[in-house]
Amino acid sequence: MYNTKAYSVASSTSPFARTTIARRDLTGRDVQIEILFCGICHSDLHLARNEWSGAMPAVYPCVPGHEIVGRVTKVGSGVTRFKPGDLVGVGCMVDSDRTCPECQAGLEQFCPNTTLTYNSPDKHLGGVTYGGYSESVVVDEHFVLRVPPGLDPAGAAPLLCAGITTYSPMRHWGVTKGKKVGVVGLGGLGHMGVKFAHAIGAHVVAFTRSPGKKEAALRLGADEAVVSRDADEMKRHAGSFDFILDAVAADHDVGAYIQLLRRDGNITLVGAPAKPLAVPAFGLLLGRRSLSGSPIGGIRETQEMLDFCGAHHITADVEVIPIQKVDEAYERLLRSDVRYRFSIDMASLR
Ligand SMILES: [Zn+2]
Ligand SMILES: [Zn+2]
Repeated sequence: MYNTKAYSVASSTSPFARTTIARRDLTGRDVQIEILFCGICHSDLHLARNEWSGAMPAVYPCVPGHEIVGRVTKVGSGVTRFKPGDLVGVGCMVDSDRTCPECQAGLEQFCPNTTLTYNSPDKHLGGVTYGGYSESVVVDEHFVLRVPPGLDPAGAAPLLCAGITTYSPMRHWGVTKGKKVGVVGLGGLGHMGVKFAHAIGAHVVAFTRSPGKKEAALRLGADEAVVSRDADEMKRHAGSFDFILDAVAADHDVGAYIQLLRRDGNITLVGAPAKPLAVPAFGLLLGRRSLSGSPIGGIRETQEMLDFCGAHHITADVEVIPIQKVDEAYERLLRSDVRYRFSIDMASLR
């Protein structure tokens, strides 16, 4: 074991404070990573404040962070894919059983025995896993991703969660060149959705609540921006979308978007509103439309997404902050006061 600096919360109401945590000594399959940047995902805030206490109670001290980009510092004797100096990423998972049908299919995100990057039972050290708001992390090489050269590491960090969460459902639902794709909600997830759909060659329509955000949506690569409160504007798009990515984490009228799908069109939820959404059955059955959800993506697909980003020069739009500002960043996140993701510069912790 060795000690590394980290930022943690001691309870659901505590501010973040500097601390020291233990990381394991490398096994033959492990990669040790010096963390350069870690994105701030909305899940970090939910966990730190124990807002998902039903499904995933927080264990304190809690060190969040699952949008990690760093530099390999050391590898175990059996590691073949990485060497010191490589630029790498770690997302929401650091382990799984590797034997179940989901793992066999490369869909580790659905493994019943997955180990999440933070707040998951730690098989090596006991207690729970600690995430990326830290100096260094040790991860099995299977869960380490290669970050293509040329991508800005601060902007690449959010690809590990926000990126794969929006890329994966587009691939699954067959978004290709020429398809009409809608993106609802222009936050950390939605802005990545617009970038991916645009890079794939789809016709991208961004939905926003405020007319003031239209310009920003077009700058991100949307072909059109629609103000969702404008009934006439919405009506003009009725029955026309192949796919809609719904990245809204608050209560909203999903039925209004179902109406915009064409026959066999799909709307996928990637946000997680606390209250159940009202779904109009007629909206789905007339047109054989479908509503689904999707969490992150498997390791193979996460690498594919990163390689796609390398080829298309895609990163998240980030505001880089020192780790001392993480509490303030959480407050701003709650007000959607960030364009579009915070990325913590871990040099501020050293
Ligand atoms: Zn996340
Ligand atoms: Zn499994």
